[in-house]
Amino acid sequence: MGLGALGGWLPKQMGVDQEKIGIALVGLGNYATRQLAPALQLTQYCQLTGIVSGTPSKVKDWQGKYGIEDVHCYTYENFEDIAADDKIDVVYIVLPNFMHAEYTIRALEMGKHVICEKPMGLDADECRKMLAAQTASGKKLQIGYRLYHEPHHKRMHELGVALHWGPLKVMESSLGFRMANPASWRMDPSKGGGGAIMDLGVYCIQAARRMANQLPQKVSAQGFNTDPGLFKGLFEHVSFQLSFPNGAVSNSTTSFNAYVDRFHAACERGWLQMQPSFNAGQQVVLTTSEELEPIEGPGPFQQVAQMDAFARNIMDDTEVIASGEEGLIDLQIIDAIKRSIEEERMIEISY
Ligand code: NDP
Repeated sequence: MGLGALGGWLPKQMGVDQEKIGIALVGLGNYATRQLAPALQLTQYCQLTGIVSGTPSKVKDWQGKYGIEDVHCYTYENFEDIAADDKIDVVYIVLPNFMHAEYTIRALEMGKHVICEKPMGLDADECRKMLAAQTASGKKLQIGYRLYHEPHHKRMHELGVALHWGPLKVMESSLGFRMANPASWRMDPSKGGGGAIMDLGVYCIQAARRMANQLPQKVSAQGFNTDPGLFKGLFEHVSFQLSFPNGAVSNSTTSFNAYVDRFHAACERGWLQMQPSFNAGQQVVLTTSEELEPIEGPGPFQQVAQMDAFARNIMDDTEVIASGEEGLIDLQIIDAIKRSIEEERMIEISY
């Protein structure tokens, strides 16, 4: 009988070699290969015990590199067989956005805990279905929000919660890069969900709402496209302004054609800035209007703390910080951003 069937984590009944949480990565693309798999090697409570891929050559490479036995290598066709695999406690969905909901729900239904990459789904409706599946399963769900566990972003949140510099006034929160590959699923609205705002919007939104420590009430958004030949059916840049109940406002641009990665928060008596702020491949640099105690960085991979935190949530049966509910909130805001562009007006965000 698999652990999943037993309904949870049973540390005292497990053998020494099973004391870590076993994770299977689903979709061996860039993020799984360059960030998650190497990060897993540095975790304290996790181990890479399985893979799911549609590309046999990748499976062979990964087996060579990480010593994964044949019986723990799956395809999309025999995905459900993971249900009976005792070495896999967590299924980590690292697939294109349009596959997140389907594979998260299937993994939950087979009794596994799930980490799902961002954005949680293509829209809020998908997220609600994923949350319903989670509730029915009794399993835990984390969204791959690595920055919820990144020390500089945690400090930003703490300073915001404490109103360290008095009331928050104005924020700028932007992320973009040049996406020149028209063949990428990110450029296909049916697969990526709509370009830069879907790929990068969650970061800008989260920083603003975690600094404000509340949810934005209204959004006004604009879409721009100077190269319709390249950006077909999606916007090259999306700018949006959020207003919060505490009076703070935030201005953001997400772009698939300009490099930008920064967050700035101006309060009544001081400010903080992170630049770079959001990219996984770079260390966050935090500066503030006054000298604060230095922060120890996260090491080479921000995902180490993210995955270890989830493992502890499973071991201790504690609440997940980067939860499915958090993922849903961001999609509710993105849905409102899209509506604002379409209807050319300010939208009241419904939660
Ligand atoms: P890639 O395109 O590099 O990888 C996706 C992988 O999914 C493919 O390599 C393939 O793996 C598998 N796949 C299965 N079906 C399809 C399909 N129909 N089309 C394309 N790929 C398919 O994407 P990324 O790794 O960059 O992104 C994956 C997810 O991770 C996205 O949701 C993205 O938003 C998220 N992400 C999160 C980051 C973060 O910082 N939290 C950073 C980067 C990405 P295989 O050949 O093994 O089947």
